[in-house]
Amino acid sequence: MSILVIEDEIKVANFITKGLQEEGYEMEAAYDGEEGLEMALSGDYEGIILDLMLPKRDGISLLRELRARGIRTPVLILTAKGTIQDKVIGLDSGADDYLAKPFHFEELTARIRSMLRRSTVEKATQLEVGDLVLGTISHKAKRGDNEIELTAREYSLLEYLMRNADRVLSRSVITQHVWNYNFDIESNLVDVYINRLRNKIELEGMSRLIHSIRGVGYVMREKPPESEE
Ligand code: CA
Repeated sequence: MSILVIEDEIKVANFITKGLQEEGYEMEAAYDGEEGLEMALSGDYEGIILDLMLPKRDGISLLRELRARGIRTPVLILTAKGTIQDKVIGLDSGADDYLAKPFHFEELTARIRSMLRRSTVEKATQLEVGDLVLGTISHKAKRGDNEIELTAREYSLLEYLMRNADRVLSRSVITQHVWNYNFDIESNLVDVYINRLRNKIELEGMSRLIHSIRGVGYVMREKPPESEE
């Protein structure tokens, strides 16, 4: 796992990258908003350092898109825009922290450490929907006393559904998140995997947890939604 720096000023990007590498972090960099969004959407980073004024796509719009697509990677905004209002907009758009330029490197590393620590604690907690429990470290699911074995893809899908419990997710949002972004796949792949999951987590006599929403997609919740098919 590495940290992604999205920053168009190459000097600043190199300064952060080199400095954090010396602290032991693996680093990757993107130099405009589009490239940054594409990389961030992979969900493969443990943290993101985000500049706001970027070519092609600004940082706030990038961040909103990321959160709208269910990517919860912790984000620290690092920018020359340092007014209170800018900070509020950044935090309201889904940032976890905010640091104004110019900054001291020691403060950046301290904030990164603290942000990653918080996110590790959050990730360590298990996910629960009704009597279904998913261990986000063990990658094992349990419903009541039944232990459930999951393949890697089934785990990703179930984790995504559980993290977004009560939210109706379209097939394309699920596809973009659980499979590769912009990867052209058969439209029924999501349905196939949902069925596999249902066969594992909804055994005979158990209530339904993954509900189909006609013409839209799926929602994970304990109680059935009114519009279920
Ligand atoms: Ca910039």
